[in-house]
Amino acid sequence: MNVLISACLLGCKCRYDGKDKNTIDITKLKEKYTLFPICPELDGGLGVPREPAEIKEKRVINRKGIDVTKEYTKGAEIALETALKNNCTVAILKARSPSCGKGEIYDGSFTKTLINGDGITVRVLKEAGIRIYTENEIDMITE
Ligand code: SF4
Repeated sequence: MNVLISACLLGCKCRYDGKDKNTIDITKLKEKYTLFPICPELDGGLGVPREPAEIKEKRVINRKGIDVTKEYTKGAEIALETALKNNCTVAILKARSPSCGKGEIYDGSFTKTLINGDGITVRVLKEAGIRIYTENEIDMITE
């Protein structure tokens, strides 16, 4: 099965702080799935390091108050293109990110307050019918 995956989970140092989030067993995952890495924030044109951003109402605003919705949207579109081109019906995406987060995201106040909601890329992928799992839900993936 072809699976879209957040590149930071595979060890790519593409997070806003220049670090990765390699918290999963990649070897085991590669035995089961063909992985297609994405990083919507880089693909959307943002650099590393970058200011952290959070979703506030319908916009994505970084910690300096700059609206980065356009970059996040472009990254989401590229993620969808990658999924469709490679027949990925499932995605494993980093929890709580304003791009990759599923089910809960930060509330836009930069106070580490979580609310229910999805990141921008997750919204776009869900609309296309792609099933999303966080890195904490890998055991729940079904064919
Ligand atoms: Fe990881 Fe997604 Fe953030 Fe890129 S946009 S660093 S893949 S969580």
